[in-house]
Amino acid sequence: MIRCNIDVENLPVIAGGEDYKIWDLDSKGVFSVKSAKAALKLPAEVVPCENLFSRQVVHPTLSVQYWKIWSKQCCASEDNIIKKTGRSMPTMCRLCRKSGETLSHITWHCRVARRIWAWVAGVFKLDPKEDLVDSYKAAKGRSIMIKDLWLVANLAIVTELWKLRNKSYFENMAFHWLGFKGRVYQVIRDNSIRMKVHMHNTLEELRILNYFKVRHRSCKTSTPIEISLSPPDQDEIMICCDGASFGNLGQAGAGVVFRNASSEVLGVLCVGLGWQTNFYAEVCAIIYGAIMVKRWNLRSIFIRSDSKSCIQDFQKKELPWQLVQKWKIAKSFYSNVCYIHSYREANFSADRPSKHVCWLRIFLSFLRVGLVLFLLWNGLEGFISFHLGLSGEWPSG
Ligand SMILES: [Zn+2]
Repeated sequence: MIRCNIDVENLPVIAGGEDYKIWDLDSKGVFSVKSAKAALKLPAEVVPCENLFSRQVVHPTLSVQYWKIWSKQCCASEDNIIKKTGRSMPTMCRLCRKSGETLSHITWHCRVARRIWAWVAGVFKLDPKEDLVDSYKAAKGRSIMIKDLWLVANLAIVTELWKLRNKSYFENMAFHWLGFKGRVYQVIRDNSIRMKVHMHNTLEELRILNYFKVRHRSCKTSTPIEISLSPPDQDEIMICCDGASFGNLGQAGAGVVFRNASSEVLGVLCVGLGWQTNFYAEVCAIIYGAIMVKRWNLRSIFIRSDSKSCIQDFQKKELPWQLVQKWKIAKSFYSNVCYIHSYREANFSADRPSKHVCWLRIFLSFLRVGLVLFLLWNGLEGFISFHLGLSGEWPSG
């Protein structure tokens, strides 16, 4: 048993019933092609720059043009020639005739490039950078709509500068500032048709959208919703449950507040769960809450949680496979289980302990994973705390 890494003192609780198979690479224990594929797939590296120019708002044509310049190094500039052939060839920028023709010169340092970047910086009142990711970060704090427009402007300038260089190199076309600026402007405006996001309701943002004649304008408006918290019936106990994790996966915790028919707080439960997902923490909060309610010896329980998907999964009986047995044992005690979804704002009492316990796990790192810290508040008697092994015995009341 020790060789197999099984702790005889700490075996999981079995609720009985038929044996069944569990596919442990899926959260619900059910085999699916999707989960098998995810298990086989190697995690791919994500380059932040690629994420930017493949966004919904960027037209595929613009996105591909930028990708060719950025990744494929297909432009015959001095640095790319050296990279591909290993030979250095004397080159000269056709636009300013002052410097060698590197990609960095054409898209950033050249006189023409400087002028167009200064123009766009003036319109957006933002500071562009040579690197796309850094440049995008300059729009921090603006609305998503302005961020998208700024991204499109960055891509449009780089691709149009490259096209301008090709025209003057191969077709000996003379450079006209107004014509070039007009083309960049048109590309930005064309891409703005794909916008679906919201703007901030400010004059400054309206000015930018007017400048590019963006037709899509939508602001987020908030409508107040009335929320209320009604107490449970006389022979019922209400548990307000919430789970939290710092990051998904991250340090997770569950918090439960127990209330009786007169809305009195009977107790608060904080469970440190270790490294778990947010959803797992939400489900755990309900299960541990239900286990604790047994001490008041009432057969009816009223579960309130702010996670809709969690409540739906409880109703459909599709829980994470690790918790199915625990829920079976907990539920067997009750004759009536009632679920209700409430907004986080109405569930603040459970929201707080769940978040606190995440920090608690970090500060009290000597506690091993799977310990329950139960804080019971009973009138003026003060705090009583218990430490219990989760997979061991449950408090019977
Ligand atoms: Zn130049």
